[in-house]
Amino acid sequence: METFEIELESFLKTILPVPELYEFLLIAQNLSKKRGEFLYFAGGVVRDYLLKTLYKKEIERVKDLDLVLQGDLKSFLKELLKKVKGEILFESQFLTYKVKIYLNGKKFLIDFITARKEIYEDIAKLPKVFPSDFKDDVLRRDFTINTLIIGFSPPFEGILIDLVNGKKDLERGLIKPLHLNSFVDDPTRIFRGIRYKVRFDFKFAEEFFLALEKCFKKEALKKLSATRIANELKLYLNKEPEEKLKELLETTFYLNIFEEAGIKAEKENFDSVIRLLNELRNELNIKEREKFFLLGLLNPQFLEQALRLGFTELELKEIKKNIEFIKKYSKDWGRMSLWEKIKFFKKFSPSYLLALAIYFSEIREEVIKYFKEYRKIKPELTGNDLKDLGIKKGKEIGELLDLLRRKRIEGKIKTKEEEKDLIIQFLLKKSEN
Ligand code: ATP
Ligand code: MG
Repeated sequence: METFEIELESFLKTILPVPELYEFLLIAQNLSKKRGEFLYFAGGVVRDYLLKTLYKKEIERVKDLDLVLQGDLKSFLKELLKKVKGEILFESQFLTYKVKIYLNGKKFLIDFITARKEIYEDIAKLPKVFPSDFKDDVLRRDFTINTLIIGFSPPFEGILIDLVNGKKDLERGLIKPLHLNSFVDDPTRIFRGIRYKVRFDFKFAEEFFLALEKCFKKEALKKLSATRIANELKLYLNKEPEEKLKELLETTFYLNIFEEAGIKAEKENFDSVIRLLNELRNELNIKEREKFFLLGLLNPQFLEQALRLGFTELELKEIKKNIEFIKKYSKDWGRMSLWEKIKFFKKFSPSYLLALAIYFSEIREEVIKYFKEYRKIKPELTGNDLKDLGIKKGKEIGELLDLLRRKRIEGKIKTKEEEKDLIIQFLLKKSEN
């Protein structure tokens, strides 16, 4: 075990996302001293601090604090919340707590973790956890670069503790699991390792490949639940810089992770999936983006594998139906009018339509235009305006609004006045008949 002294104040000032938290941390620190329980920072926050200060790496703002208590965290938090306004929002099965606090009228969410030991009884299943000391807490972690801790109270106040040479691996830029069974216990660590490697431009240590081999041999990735696989892949999309997505997917592909997890990912799709995600950034909500991203990775001939990405049987059936549908139409695609195509696109949910645009390149450009333009074109006249003009039947109103939209999309009308004219002509014709 190696130790180094750390200037706590400068550490805190570097990592704190907002200065208000400083006071709060001092209160927590004093409480841990009074209770005689060891409080420390662990994981990402320590790693990022060292990368930034010692190795001058550009690091995004630290998001979570990774505060760990070796002791009775629930009782600690109850006492803390007598001194600071707030409440416990959530207590997990892993002895972690999400706490909401108010400082200067502002709201903050902070995660607290109990120093714990983990026991993996089944391959790729969640572990049993027990409160323990900081050593066990360090040894349960994924990679050596994430094992460094900084003590915030006695007996290691202001001390950086390095139990497994994490500092050296951080210096050398190595992604190294703590033991060779690490990915058998928890294959999600593979995806995590890929994220760290790509995010920091690090290298995989020899041990990473050895642990991977063991994981493949035990088929641990096949045993990892679909929800957990999907969650890890969604982190590629949501937690990492956008420009790294391609490298993340390719690294996963070349390490054979998709295949081992029971997913036939189509490498040829990666570029177009990324392109559509970028181009349609403002057109989709997060859920739609995630679904499209996952579906887009697949080959439509092996669509069953959507089940390994967390899609339900029902969703799978729906996507398959969509594919059959589009195959039927694609023969006539060239002959269909723009309006017919738009009406056709409207039948699909956004994520499915975009996945189809990946599988069937002949519709791709028009789908993109559909999202960016056509979908948003609406008549200026409303249903109520049409009523005022004398159209009474609900069905007729719907049809006329559709007609106005169509004329707008085809560029035949541009203003509200022209819309009115069209409706008046319609009424005139009607009264002639
Ligand atoms: P990020 O910057 O992505 O938040 P992080 O290292 O803080 O990186 P988190 O997912 O926030 O990552 O997890 C915090 C810490 O918890 C990690 O540094 C790691 O030590 C530990 N950890 C998280 N997930 C695992 C896992 N599956 N197996 C072992 N340790 C894990
Ligand atoms: Mg984190």
